[in-house]
Amino acid sequence: MINIAIDGPAGAGKSTAAKMIAKELGFIYIDTGALYRSIGIAVLRKGLKTDNAQDVISVLPEVQLSLKFVDGEQRVILCGEDVSRDIRLPEASMAASNVSAIPEVRSFLLDMQKKFARENNCLMDGRDIGTVILPDAELKIFLTASAEVRAERRYKELIEKGTPKDYNELLEEIKLRDYNDSNRAVAPLKPADDAVIIDSSEMNLEEVVSKIVSLAKEVIK
Ligand code: C5P
Repeated sequence: MINIAIDGPAGAGKSTAAKMIAKELGFIYIDTGALYRSIGIAVLRKGLKTDNAQDVISVLPEVQLSLKFVDGEQRVILCGEDVSRDIRLPEASMAASNVSAIPEVRSFLLDMQKKFARENNCLMDGRDIGTVILPDAELKIFLTASAEVRAERRYKELIEKGTPKDYNELLEEIKLRDYNDSNRAVAPLKPADDAVIIDSSEMNLEEVVSKIVSLAKEVIK
């Protein structure tokens, strides 16, 4: 099986690009952030705190997670319920960032991610895919962009959705998530030594997609 890892900070455009690239290559796209978001939601639904490790660990034995693919789109099933929509709620982002710093959560999700990669030609996006989950991936990309550009993209996206939010608030949120993700003790966000680093600050989506597709074609042939 051929595995492609795409890591990078929140808002760098990984998932939008990854979906398009996977389609073009005929690969399965796995969004691993959705798994951390689901655990975050499970903790919030219990009325517990996502920044309290004991609270989070106490919920794990009850968490049953699986992925389903409908027309190539990933759906996350949490204890029998499709939570694909709920995990996109704003509170799920910080909840995911909090739970993802807990080693027990990371090891809980490890086998599931590795198994998908063993069984499928896949493109997986996250924070530690190239460094921890798929250290032998055929291609590793670290997709980044400045915090300001990422906040600006999110700002425009929210206006289009009809749910605008203050730009400075978005920028602060992005910086906080970057800090949390890069400074945690386990599996911090950082490029693998052999990752190709792509800074998309000055690139549009099509340019990012075509760059990664051409890199992928080199390793697939
Ligand atoms: O990618 P997304 O924004 O959905 O991820 C939500 C959060 O989950 C991230 O801020 C990060 O803390 C965490 N995450 C992670 N490792 C991954 C994917 C996501 O720690 N492989």
